[in-house]
Amino acid sequence: MMIELSERMRALVQPHLVDAEPYDPMFSPTRINLSANENTYGIPAAVRAHIDEALAQATLNRYPDAMSNELRDEIAAWHGVRREQVCVCNGGDEGIFNLLLAFGGAGRTVLTCPPDFSEYAQFAQLLQTSVATVFRDPETMLPDGPALVEAARAANLAIVTSPNNPTGDLMPLDLVAALCDACPGLVMVDEAYMKFAEPGASALALLDEHPNLVVLRTFSKAFGEAGVRCGYIIAAPDVIDVYAAVRQIYSVNVLSQAAALVALRERAAFDEDIATIKRERGRVYTGIEQLLAGTAAGARVWPSSGNFLLVRLPGCASRIRTRLRDEYSILVRDFSAAPGLMDCLRITIGTPAENDEVLTALGALVKEELA
Ligand SMILES: *Cc1c(COP(=O)(O)O)cnc(C)c1O
Repeated sequence: MMIELSERMRALVQPHLVDAEPYDPMFSPTRINLSANENTYGIPAAVRAHIDEALAQATLNRYPDAMSNELRDEIAAWHGVRREQVCVCNGGDEGIFNLLLAFGGAGRTVLTCPPDFSEYAQFAQLLQTSVATVFRDPETMLPDGPALVEAARAANLAIVTSPNNPTGDLMPLDLVAALCDACPGLVMVDEAYMKFAEPGASALALLDEHPNLVVLRTFSKAFGEAGVRCGYIIAAPDVIDVYAAVRQIYSVNVLSQAAALVALRERAAFDEDIATIKRERGRVYTGIEQLLAGTAAGARVWPSSGNFLLVRLPGCASRIRTRLRDEYSILVRDFSAAPGLMDCLRITIGTPAENDEVLTALGALVKEELA
């Protein structure tokens, strides 16, 4: 549903904002919500108890530590970097916004590789930054490496995603390195879903050799803290200085810092659920592949290194999404109107029971709609 700004406000806002849309995802309450790539297992009970203790002890009448230094140190120790290379953000979103705020702007261009995370283009628009795109191959959904590198030479900034949301593929590290070499400005690798990938895929390994690399992480996905609003970037210390200069000083509140710190200290407790999600991803992938076999031409599911799968259901994606919601109370994400994602749905990997329900419901609907 598109909502427009009022006539009165269109006359008052900055000219580049007249077509900005008020954003409200309007989540329908459903029994099973697999629409936002959250960790549907929740936080392990023992960790949750420790978070509750930390929250109970948090000092609320004082401002938070502006730079979240305790959390920064824990993040730095985990990734083998220095405190000076870490900036904690109010969700990964703020890390993206502040990148564009500081390094984008009028007359500058950010390179992206769609279909990707829609907020890159949305934030770029808010910050008057032009967006240059090199679309993925429509069939494999993989990036066109040489074209990306070429485009990076002419861009002020590049953002790539690994694993990519919503296509699930990893950005090869040699391509990330080539982008860093080609781009005269910063290259952000958004690793919101990296905990679901196999080890060795993170661009963090390239930081030492590429001082223009910025890696983004979040507590919202594998760590089950989407409601906490905490993420971070890792980059060269002078990049962090820029973030520290442009960010809203107290954007990461006391409660978020406390909840993220406990989750990080007790990160091993999440490993079992993450392993289950990865296993389930394989099972659901195979299940969907089987139920699509011999149906419409073009029906398919893509392999994924994230906690979600992209599925193409020619001619009926939107209808199947609506029927999943209304008849089965299962919510998935409809991307069928997004550029490069015609007929596509994105389904988050849930618990084994949730995934069983998705496979059963999808099996029935595909028989009716796609046969
Ligand atoms: C979820 C997500 C983020 C960050 O989300 P936050 O909740 O703001 O931390 C960043 N990038 C991608 C691709 C995502 O899917």
